[in-house]
Amino acid sequence: MFNIILFGPPGCGKGTQSEKLIAHYGLKHLSTGDLLRKEMKDGTPLGLEAKSLIQKGQLVPDEVVVGMISSALEANPDVPGFLFDGFPRTVAQARALDNLLDLKKTSIEVVLALQVNEEELISRLINRAQTSGRMDDADPEIQRNRQQVYKNETLPVAEYYAKFDKVEMIDGEGTIEEIFSRLQKSIDTKKGLAS
Ligand code: AMP
Repeated sequence: MFNIILFGPPGCGKGTQSEKLIAHYGLKHLSTGDLLRKEMKDGTPLGLEAKSLIQKGQLVPDEVVVGMISSALEANPDVPGFLFDGFPRTVAQARALDNLLDLKKTSIEVVLALQVNEEELISRLINRAQTSGRMDDADPEIQRNRQQVYKNETLPVAEYYAKFDKVEMIDGEGTIEEIFSRLQKSIDTKKGLAS
């Protein structure tokens, strides 16, 4: 299995690049944000619990997202690998993911960390709000909160994986195609090393 984490702040392009990466490499896309939005849309108890936190730009509890990822891993035994998008967002989630993958005798191959300056992030989120219909994109206060939560809780995840020499910094500015080709180059090099 070849497992990738696409890492970076809200608005860095993880969703857009994930779509291209799964199409190209045949990986199973696991986005905790998408899974949570589906729970909200279906009006499940989990969705209702998540909604009030997402609306404030806060994180959903680790047990909730780890549980969702655990079920998704079980439900997809035969895929060539997973692309994790928006997960892990805390060091506790990263440790839990490592344990889950360990049980499956696999691991994270690379963490691709998209680098985008803060002004560009905010402007991308404002643009996205016009089409995404996401309440957490539309409100500047929530956006600021999400960037703050990213810095406090999620950036340490990159430090955690850097200790295992798994982090690759990718320039996340430029056209969608330019960014994709940088990601592709990094993955193909890793794949060469991995095989
Ligand atoms: P995203 O679509 O990845 O930007 O996620 C939207 C929102 O869902 C986030 O702002 C969080 O409130 C929640 N969320 C998504 N993934 C996670 C996660 N791994 N841990 C905690 N909360 C999450």
